[in-house]
Amino acid sequence: MFLKPVPKFQDPELLAIFQEINAQWFDAFLEPPILRWNSRLRSAAGRFFPGSRKWAVEYPPAIEVASYLRTEERSLELIRDTMAHEMIHYWLWVRRKPYGHTGEFLEKMRQMGVSRYNQVPRLRPYKYLYRCPGCQKEFKTRKKLGVLACADCCKAHAGGRFDARFRLLLDPVAPPVEARER
Ligand SMILES: [Zn+2]
Ligand SMILES: [Zn+2]
Repeated sequence: MFLKPVPKFQDPELLAIFQEINAQWFDAFLEPPILRWNSRLRSAAGRFFPGSRKWAVEYPPAIEVASYLRTEERSLELIRDTMAHEMIHYWLWVRRKPYGHTGEFLEKMRQMGVSRYNQVPRLRPYKYLYRCPGCQKEFKTRKKLGVLACADCCKAHAGGRFDARFRLLLDPVAPPVEARER
């Protein structure tokens, strides 16, 4: 089916789960795409990457599952649920249909009893990261702060009074918490 073949050796655990769901819900019609663990996923439990069918840049599709799911309670159930969700994206793509969360996606999802969102996202417990320009101390908050200065630095260098030199600055590199969508 694909010019650059999916590697023969696949993670046996992911492959077994794929084939089990394939037999149960897809008449064993799906060829395994690349199946791999991803240790960087946190908010998403899984991802589907469409392949390319253009002959010059042909590459196989892939499904990734977040490695951290293996350490969760109900780990097998969560991995199966994630695999099943990504397989619906894959199944739509294989049949050249829109493969996002379309009406057909949601219908298949309900039939299979699969969840739409990651049930156990590892979200950061904070939303905003502020830093004191004096001592570089970090402040993690869930809400935006008003005008505040670093208490330690104001105490040490300004006799305990507010000093704008130590005003906490929002760190722009910390992105807002990602959605749980997958
Ligand atoms: Zn400070
Ligand atoms: Zn999805």
